Amino acid sequence: EYIKYLRELDKKHYLHPTSSIRQQQENGPAFIFTDGEGVYLKDISGKTLIDGMSSLWNVNVGHGREELGQVALEQMKKLGYSSSFATFSHEPAILLAAKIAEMTPGDLNAIFYTSGGSESNDTAFKIVRHYWNLKGQPEKKKIISRKRGYHGVAMGATSATGIPVFHAMSGGLLPDFLHVDAFSTQSLRDMIEAEGADTIAAFIAEPIQGAGGVHIPQDPHYFQRVREICDEYNILFIADEVITGFGRTGKMFAMEHWGVVPDLMSIAKGITSGYAQLGGVVISEKIHSELINLSKDTFFHGFTYSGHPVACAVALRNIEIIESENLVENSRVMGQEMLKGFQWLQQEIDIVGEVRGLGLVGAIEIVKDKATGERFESPLSPKIVAEAANRGLICRCVTFEGSDTLVFAPPLVINKEEINKMIHILHETFVATQVKN
Ligand code: PLP
Repeated sequence: EYIKYLRELDKKHYLHPTSSIRQQQENGPAFIFTDGEGVYLKDISGKTLIDGMSSLWNVNVGHGREELGQVALEQMKKLGYSSSFATFSHEPAILLAAKIAEMTPGDLNAIFYTSGGSESNDTAFKIVRHYWNLKGQPEKKKIISRKRGYHGVAMGATSATGIPVFHAMSGGLLPDFLHVDAFSTQSLRDMIEAEGADTIAAFIAEPIQGAGGVHIPQDPHYFQRVREICDEYNILFIADEVITGFGRTGKMFAMEHWGVVPDLMSIAKGITSGYAQLGGVVISEKIHSELINLSKDTFFHGFTYSGHPVACAVALRNIEIIESENLVENSRVMGQEMLKGFQWLQQEIDIVGEVRGLGLVGAIEIVKDKATGERFESPLSPKIVAEAANRGLICRCVTFEGSDTLVFAPPLVINKEEINKMIHILHETFVATQVKN
């Protein structure tokens, strides 16, 4: 009765993010989660599921970490909130800034705090425009991003996102946002030449495209070439490590796979493993020192919750957990196990096409014909996701623009037994789906 009551309240009063509103109205929520432990989530009806997505690619240290609650409680008791505008500061934000500077590659050395990834990217766009403005080149303001890229839902972030379904509801994109083919350095170069480098502020890319379907650069030199092109044309390079940061790909930050240091790095999600809302833009020493040297006026950008003390305290402890439990290495090793599992499914199951993964982020393509890669007329992956959830595994599908893809990003604490369980559930799910189809 209580569950029914909650479902009715949900239908009546809760407009869900990224949801089918009509379906939500008809069916109510499929799951109301109440508890989490490690890689598992528990639903109000008592059902247990493997969280194969770390919820929204963010619960890196897994669920049920009491110590993060303890840290939040202690910080709230000591100082629940105070401003960090202008001349004010506080310990958790200072110590976390120093920690992030130490962890991030190259000369990425200073952080501007936000409450999430979208705010981080909008902030990055404003910082790069401000930077060129200070340097006397205000016409350098275009932002180039990539098709299929996802950068969030604030207006700047939406405009940089290269997935058309996200554009529809914003009534048009902001001016001066351009999209190039992902993974083609030639089309990046062509666009810069066509537009004129003196009109372009920055290029932004996710190291691995996440929401776009987990697309990993095939060319190991792709990001090195990107870095070279940006340097050649005097364009800043923003790496959006919102998903890939904090161990997701088997390195602390994904750019380390290719030895590339961006000028700015957007982070969020794994910085607190979702236990508190926090993001940031990490900027290079070069940009930071230019801002210091050239600024004559106030830096007019700041959120009430920039550097929230509780979120920063949680982040510090979360990073300690990632380091002390060797979760980056576990991500690398368990990622290989997950990929092996996908490859086994590829051999066993007719509708499993290409599989890919790097660390604990991966994808399975659903195809009608393995040889040609032909797709089903209407995507099968939503049915597979629903069927897998019934069998105790949460994963996600990507179906826009002809995709029919399952994506995975389990918590970095996952062990071999739990990976095997994931693969086993997927196998059962595929068999059941093939029979039905
Ligand atoms: N950038 C990337 C690569 C993301 O995957 C996301 C969220 O999924 C965002 C930015 C936006 O972050 P948020 O949802 O915290 O605003």
